[in-house]
Amino acid sequence: MFEKVYSFGDVLLVPQKSDIESRSEIDISVNLGSRSYPLPVISSPMDTVTESAMANCMAEVGGFGIVHRYCSIKDQCAMLSVTRRAAAVGVVGDFKERVSALVSAGAELICIDVAHGHHSLTEQAIKLLKDKYGESITIIAGNIATQKGYSDLSSWGADAVRVGIGGGSICSTRIQTGHGVPTFQSILYCSAAKGNAKIIADGGLQTAGDIVKAYAAGADLVMLGSLLAGTDESPGQVFTDMQNKKYKVYRGMASKEAQVDWRGESRSLEGISTTIPYKGPVLNILRDLEQNIRSGLSYSGARNLKELREKAEFIEQSLSGQAESGTHILNDR
Ligand code: IMP
Repeated sequence: MFEKVYSFGDVLLVPQKSDIESRSEIDISVNLGSRSYPLPVISSPMDTVTESAMANCMAEVGGFGIVHRYCSIKDQCAMLSVTRRAAAVGVVGDFKERVSALVSAGAELICIDVAHGHHSLTEQAIKLLKDKYGESITIIAGNIATQKGYSDLSSWGADAVRVGIGGGSICSTRIQTGHGVPTFQSILYCSAAKGNAKIIADGGLQTAGDIVKAYAAGADLVMLGSLLAGTDESPGQVFTDMQNKKYKVYRGMASKEAQVDWRGESRSLEGISTTIPYKGPVLNILRDLEQNIRSGLSYSGARNLKELREKAEFIEQSLSGQAESGTHILNDR
C-alpha cells in the first residue's frame, strides 16, 4: 500500500572484482564551486561541532567545515578570519546583513541552513545571493528529502543541496512532526532527479560504512555531526564523571538548550541535547574515516566515486543479516 523505503542499516554493498592494489590508487576527490576537495566530508554547522578549530582541521584533511550561525555576526566573521571558506546563514532576521558581512570577511561558500529547506523563503534567498554575487560564492542550501525538493533547489541556483530530513542523531523532527524520509532513501531519490547541484548526504551517518553507502547511492559529499562531535576541536568543555570517563555535550540546534542559548527562549522543539564520550583529536577520526572510505571503494573495485556509483550493487539485509553485520561475538544466544 505504501512505498517501501530504505535506511543505511537495511542495505549492504556486494563486493565486486577488484584490481586495486593499494588504497592510495583511489581518488575520492569532488569538485564544488571553484574548488576540489580531496576528502568529500563536511562538518555540520552546529554550535557543538563547527567553529574555527574544527573548520581548520577539516580544511587540513581536504574537506571543509561550515561555521554555525548561532552567534553574533561579528563572532561568526571572526571564526572565518582563520578559515575563509564556509559559513551558515538563515533566511529571515539578519540574513542579508549577515551574508554581506561574511562575504566581506572572505567567505567563499554560504550555506543557507533551514530545517525545511523546500520553501519559498529558500528560493528567495538563493536567488538573492545569485543575483548579488553570481559565481563568486558557492551556495549550499537545504535540507530537503525528496526528488522535487532537490530539483527545485538545484533549479533555483544552489550549487549543492543538503539531503536528509529527520535522520540526525540528535533530531526529533520525525517524533514531533511525523515527517521525514530515511536519509539513504532521500539520496536515492535525489540522485535519480534532474539537476546539476551536488548532493550532500546529511543526518544519520554513524559509520564509515554508512558514508560509503551514501556515496554509492549518489551522494557527492557527506555532512557529519555526531561522528565529529566530542573531539578536541568541537566547541565546548570536557566533563569528567565519577568513574573518570570524559564527555562533551552534543546537541541539536532545535533542542531546548540550544534555542535558549541563542535566542533566549525555546519554541518548536525538534532536537535533543546529550553528552557523548570524549574522543580526542578529530584528525585521528578523520584519518580513520578516510582509510575506511578508501577500503570501501576498493571492495567495489572502484578507483573514484563515479566508478563506485557505476559498480555499486545494493542488497537488502534481513534482520538476522543486520545482526550478523554488527560485531556480535558478545551477544547472547
Ligand atoms: P548526525 O550526523 O546524525 O549527528 O546529524 C547531524 C545533522 O542533524 C546536521 O547536519 C543537521 O542537518 C541536523 N540537525 C542539527 N540540529 C538538529 C535539530 O535540532 N533537529 C533536527 N536536525 C538537526
